[in-house]
Amino acid sequence: MSEYLLSLKALCRTYRSGEGALTVLNGAELTLSRGEIVALVAPSGSGKSTLLHLAGLLEKPDAGAVIIDGRNAGELNDAARTAMRLKYIGFVYQFHHLLAEFTALENISIPQMVAGVTQTRANQRSMELLEKFGLAARASHLPGKLSGGEKQRVAIARALANNPSLLLADEPTGNLDVTTSNIVFEELLHVVRSENTAALIATHNPDLAARMDRRIVLREGRLA
Ligand code: ADP
Ligand code: MG
Repeated sequence: MSEYLLSLKALCRTYRSGEGALTVLNGAELTLSRGEIVALVAPSGSGKSTLLHLAGLLEKPDAGAVIIDGRNAGELNDAARTAMRLKYIGFVYQFHHLLAEFTALENISIPQMVAGVTQTRANQRSMELLEKFGLAARASHLPGKLSGGEKQRVAIARALANNPSLLLADEPTGNLDVTTSNIVFEELLHVVRSENTAALIATHNPDLAARMDRRIVLREGRLA
């Protein structure tokens, strides 16, 4: 086991278009320990989503390295990167992205079955997570029959389904009203702590950031 669960080394990312180039990350550095919950704070448009997509191996940096449990993802082929992502990472988006034709339970079970878990065991784990989020009675509901806060709880449960070492969450309660956002966020922190999952959670809300173990600020392409 390496010292850090996640290290970001001198990450650079520039978006190029017809009008020119926009440098969003310019030497971003971060180390995250196992079980640590860190707020990634910056105003909208600063590059939080870009950073999370790189850390989650959904995109590749122009330069620099993403190192997960001591292994440099940039040195892996696509299949090995995908395997690494499945093993280590759960991702929560601002908008839930649940599959509309599947129940809450199924939405949480599907990624487990993709990872090779039997349906029976997957459903047990899904129920355990639904219970942690107070949603056991909603297990057989389709997303369309769930409230916004409930949908986001299911999306968080889905991200945790395969016991990732690292949860990456991109403004996970950003689409909810203030009261619901506070409740869902509190539950998210509680469940992540109870599962001993590390988390990097983007937010531009200082009150939410203050509840985490540590806060890092993204400014002018760097983390401090
Ligand atoms: P945040 O999540 O903090 O709001 P983003 O990482 O989404 O920031 O975006 C940072 C900047 O990069 C923004 O100015 C955004 O418009 C720009 N950007 C993001 N993705 C792309 C892309 N695929 N192509 C071009 N520009 C992008
Ligand atoms: Mg964003």
